[in-house]
Amino acid sequence: MVQVDISEITEDEQNPVFQKELAAFQERFNALENDPRKKFRLCIHEAGHMVYFRRLGWTIKKLHGPYIYRDVDGKLRNILGAVSPVRGKVHDLVEAVKTDIAGFVLVEAMTGEPESKTAVSGDMSVISTFDPDVLKEVLEAATQGIIEEFDPDEGLRREVTGAAREYENEVFGSDDNWLWGWHEFRLDLPGERFSVYSNRHGFAWILIDDGGQMKLIVEGGKVCSPSDKLHRESLELLPTTSGERAADVVKRWNEKVLAAV
Ligand SMILES: [Zn+2]
Repeated sequence: MVQVDISEITEDEQNPVFQKELAAFQERFNALENDPRKKFRLCIHEAGHMVYFRRLGWTIKKLHGPYIYRDVDGKLRNILGAVSPVRGKVHDLVEAVKTDIAGFVLVEAMTGEPESKTAVSGDMSVISTFDPDVLKEVLEAATQGIIEEFDPDEGLRREVTGAAREYENEVFGSDDNWLWGWHEFRLDLPGERFSVYSNRHGFAWILIDDGGQMKLIVEGGKVCSPSDKLHRESLELLPTTSGERAADVVKRWNEKVLAAV
């Protein structure tokens, strides 16, 4: 099991409150390590930062596993993972912001399920000092840029998965999980991904829209079409990704499911 790094906490600071925090965080990380889905999501998140740092021409100094530190206000903070680059010059603000947000944008784009709120706000805190109007514009351009680069480009999906493997090797000392994720989330398939939920089946799945052609990815990376049934039940869906695009794709899928019944 990966041990939480506490090297930034002095011995004097390792009081009962800290010990309690450490035990709870260690337990939470152990659960993540034993859950292929959560482990894959963490590796993809950090891989997103790695890939976009490298696209700026920056090198990676260190890949961090779980650690606890004290912030400027003396409050204990726990971090599941992080990437430290050797920072170089920034010539383009949008490209620089991609390095900050690529983790959570790619986790959602690849697995269909949005990143946790804490992970998103952790990454966003880096750029929250921007002027709000500038931030909004730059964020939109950076998010759209990543999605567009990711969507038709198997090259980027391979690059991110390769970096996830590198991260997994460094932090977990093994590299058996990334390939599970590649198959489970069918990263060989192009198209825009939406997270969906089935009331009848009680599962969260991924719906892929590839130029109007829709595919549903269920457990084990199995691909279903609207006329397919699982356990003799049809595959009506609810969107869990927010926004009009997701609602529209799910609506078109459900129409096809009903037409096939
Ligand atoms: Zn991050």
